[in-house]
Amino acid sequence: LLEVQQLQKSFGDRIVLNGIDLQVGKGEVIVILGPSGCGKSTFLRCLNGLESVQGGVIQYRGQNLAEGNVDWPEVRQHIGMVFQNYDLFPHMTVIDNILLGPLQVQKRDKNEALQQAEQLLDRVGLLDRKDAYPRQLSGGQKQRIAIVRALCMNPDIILFDEVTASLDPEMVREVLDVILGLANQGMTMIIVTHEMGFAKSVGDRIVFIDQGKICEIATAQQFFTAPATERAQHFLDIFQ
Ligand code: ATP
Ligand code: MG
Repeated sequence: LLEVQQLQKSFGDRIVLNGIDLQVGKGEVIVILGPSGCGKSTFLRCLNGLESVQGGVIQYRGQNLAEGNVDWPEVRQHIGMVFQNYDLFPHMTVIDNILLGPLQVQKRDKNEALQQAEQLLDRVGLLDRKDAYPRQLSGGQKQRIAIVRALCMNPDIILFDEVTASLDPEMVREVLDVILGLANQGMTMIIVTHEMGFAKSVGDRIVFIDQGKICEIATAQQFFTAPATERAQHFLDIFQ
């Protein structure tokens, strides 16, 4: 579905991603782990056109997203992203936040999009909050809305960047459960997280990045029981 080859990204003369290779198959859940500053967020942002890249290939639907002339608004309909800080529009209700992309960007029929939005809201248990404003919601609720907003575009892939990192512990579970549900339904996802238990249960493959390079790719089972590299072992020691 998505193939990254030798991706290079620098900020000035600082190399942040130094030759990343990754293939993502349809329905696969990839979890990206690695120490702070290793380039996880930058990697996701490159896949979504939020950062320009200096080299390599991002092959997606017959085009190379690492080239200059990409129609990112079009691509972002298919590669959705959910961020740590939800970034819902504060002056818009939940339902208007969700419908913005389907109506403005995808030009879909209002009733059809509304029906889908309500179904998705119901699935995450928030249908009764559809007319609320973001400030009236808890962090966990806002994050579930942000996920619904991404889903309502019917993406091929969703990128998650530490979506529970800003949440109080009691709200983390409700958000992770939504993502686990998506995994069970076969959604293709690339997930950056520091929740090791979640990484283990949701990930088909774990990609461990250190200093801008992939240090190890393994099944979740392999990675958590017997990581192949010392750096990954060290990383796990800190978390467990
Ligand atoms: P964390 O786990 O703390 O979120 P990360 O793995 O997501 O870390 P990135 O945010 O991708 O790390 O950052 C990778 C490196 O790139 C860091 O050294 C960071 O300082 C640098 N960096 C990120 N964004 C920029 C930017 N806009 N300008 C300059 N340097 C940047
Ligand atoms: Mg980050």
